[in-house]
Amino acid sequence: MNIHEYQAKQLLKSFGLPVAEGVPVLSAGEGEAAAKALPGPLYVVKSQIHAGGRGKGKFKELGADAKGGVRLSKSVDEVVANVKDMFGNTLVTKQTGPAGKQVNRLYIEDGADIDRELYLSLLVDRSVGRVAFVVSTEGGMDIETVAHDTPEKIITVAIDPEKGVTAADVKKLNEALKLTGDAAKDGESVFPTLYKAFVEKDMSLLEVNPLIVMKNGRLRLLDAKVSFDNNALFRHPDVVELRDTTEEDAKEIEASKYDLAYVALDGNIGCMVNGAGLAMATMDIIKLYGAEPANFLDVGGGASKEKVTAAFKIITADPAVKGILVNIFGGIMKCDIIAEGVVAAVKEVGLQVPLVVRLEGTNVDLGKKILRESGLNVTPADDLDDAAKKIVAAVEG
Ligand code: GDP
Ligand code: MG
Repeated sequence: MNIHEYQAKQLLKSFGLPVAEGVPVLSAGEGEAAAKALPGPLYVVKSQIHAGGRGKGKFKELGADAKGGVRLSKSVDEVVANVKDMFGNTLVTKQTGPAGKQVNRLYIEDGADIDRELYLSLLVDRSVGRVAFVVSTEGGMDIETVAHDTPEKIITVAIDPEKGVTAADVKKLNEALKLTGDAAKDGESVFPTLYKAFVEKDMSLLEVNPLIVMKNGRLRLLDAKVSFDNNALFRHPDVVELRDTTEEDAKEIEASKYDLAYVALDGNIGCMVNGAGLAMATMDIIKLYGAEPANFLDVGGGASKEKVTAAFKIITADPAVKGILVNIFGGIMKCDIIAEGVVAAVKEVGLQVPLVVRLEGTNVDLGKKILRESGLNVTPADDLDDAAKKIVAAVEG
């Protein structure tokens, strides 16, 4: 789960980390009051969307010459004008894709005088099985470009979970970022506290780009992107409260209500499968035959008819889906339950695209009988290979 920058900063501030004062703006009329609550004379008006690259982004509704999604403002009037200009418009950045994202929230921040912009992130480094800091002196810009052009400028410091962030780790990070004086002193508390926040809140990513050294020599987190491990959200009701579903895929939200493991993808073959391994194999074989899956969907082991019906409806509601492949191995899951779910869903929402079903395992004969007698236009398949060939042919034919 992702949250907005202003929420991330409020969370990080509660750990004592240095962030600017700021006020979120949830409607176009709130700009003036927000600016007046800040000291000035420099303000920053920041679009709040779940995507980066906002500074260099462009608003669809405004001309090509209009400013981007992060705007420095030198007076309350300028803040008000920028809020009016940006609110409700669609921001397109490198990370949003061409459709962009509508800006429904802004964040007004006390502006900082920047000396240097640095890069810092915390992530789970699976290759060493540890949480690691990734830092670079080349902050503020596209870190992917830095990684590609000058990989030696990116330094990774993995943290021993038994010891936490040690004095030696802090020294390495301070040196990597060329921090001295007050900034290095700030580093001594900032780095261990970032690590603490990451671990305590079960984050999967904490990216600060840029971390800045201000003209007064102190550190500040100027931007903050935080993602949480969904499997640990049950431990953090305070984090769940921060969820902004308008930023998420509607199909994924619907799926999560039924506890379905669903991920929307870009292809046109909808997949309903049980078991993550089988779902991955199904996606692979669709690709092997030259087509692309529209989703990953694991209906789980002991799914009910209602759950299967919901899953099927989510797949058929996606206009990109040109064919559906149901691939079930009945172990704990029974084939007749799947068949009943499919039939119930089709009765409710109809079926406009080809449907190939491969069933195997517990109650397979009963499942096949239910489908046969339903009068639905189902193409049966003998095995995984046969199923993939048939659905790819049906979609391409
Ligand atoms: P992003 O473009 O989505 O990554 O948004 P950021 O929050 O990183 O802001 C983009 C850029 O705006 C930063 O790299 C800074 O150069 C600039 N910026 C943001 N806040 C301030 C500020 O308080 N003062 C100054 N001088 N520049 C800022
Ligand atoms: Mg940034």
